[in-house]
Amino acid sequence: MQESPPPIARPLLAWAAHSGRHDLPWQRQRTPYRVWISEVMLQQTQVATVVPYFERFMARFPDVAALAAAPLDEVLHLWSGLGYYARARNLQRAAQRLRDEHGGEFPRDFAAVAALPGIGRSTAGAILALSRDERFAILDGNARRVLARYFAVDGPVGDAAVQKVLWALAERCTPADGVAAYTQAIMDLGATVCVRTRPLCAACPLAAGCRARAAGRQQELPAARRARARRQRQVYMVVALRDSGEVLLERRPERGIWGGLWCLPQFASESEAVSFIGTTLDSHCAPQPLATIAHAFTHFDLAISPLLVHAAASSHVGDGAALWYNIRTPVRIGLPAPISALLSQLAA
Ligand code: SF4
Repeated sequence: MQESPPPIARPLLAWAAHSGRHDLPWQRQRTPYRVWISEVMLQQTQVATVVPYFERFMARFPDVAALAAAPLDEVLHLWSGLGYYARARNLQRAAQRLRDEHGGEFPRDFAAVAALPGIGRSTAGAILALSRDERFAILDGNARRVLARYFAVDGPVGDAAVQKVLWALAERCTPADGVAAYTQAIMDLGATVCVRTRPLCAACPLAAGCRARAAGRQQELPAARRARARRQRQVYMVVALRDSGEVLLERRPERGIWGGLWCLPQFASESEAVSFIGTTLDSHCAPQPLATIAHAFTHFDLAISPLLVHAAASSHVGDGAALWYNIRTPVRIGLPAPISALLSQLAA
């Protein structure tokens, strides 16, 4: 006999009808494309931050065809500040696959959607559930927190065994009807009521059956991922500035941090940076250290020490992976947010 689904869909849907979020830009015209872009932007990023990015992105790339055909630099430019740039590169790769292999449409088949670059099981489920009302489960951070608390699932959420339990619960809880509304509702509950710290249990439609609440364990569930030691890294970057306002930028390799973006020439030590200034730029003035820039990545903190140096108009670096970028008349290219901020300060 099949197990009956846990009784969370009905109270969630009733709650969402009056307290859910109904005015987010991706909730209008819920096409698979718009849901996809919003879901990828929302990974690791708050709704309030995502809204203006989403609207700019949609204005420039309104559909799969526009995104697939765009220069990568434009995609990265519109992503600049959202971080995790691999997501932007994967979006474009996936759009090109959709164009080349699926006639520019999202396939009907779940496995084909989940096989697209950068689309995992939860994002594929969200795309099909939210845009087509098809019965697929999601397990994004919000749904995971609600389910882990409601069912008091122990263990670090990153562990495979815990993931398996949570996916099984997510599948069981997803109703046969009203999947789109349910999917939005569980995400909304996690984002606005069952929040990470101090969940608002008194306002929660699931309070009566919530095991974490009954045991007073809301704060300890879900258990954090196993902590990794946070690394500290320091790099030196050369700001080679011409009188004309041009600064030397280099394209970063595809893999690694800020992959594919344009960045200042980077070095592991000050002596390597000085050697580059002397040999490649042929400048023999002492560089001027600028204020250190601190930037936090997921697993490490980066301290950037910029060294400002005057570059001659004739200085040439030349293999196509470098460009002289005019900070007074900037063009749309993909720049990491801290580098973009530094160049804006220099221009000012
Ligand atoms: S009762 Fe509290 S802990 Fe349980 S699901 Fe609701 S908000 Fe989360």
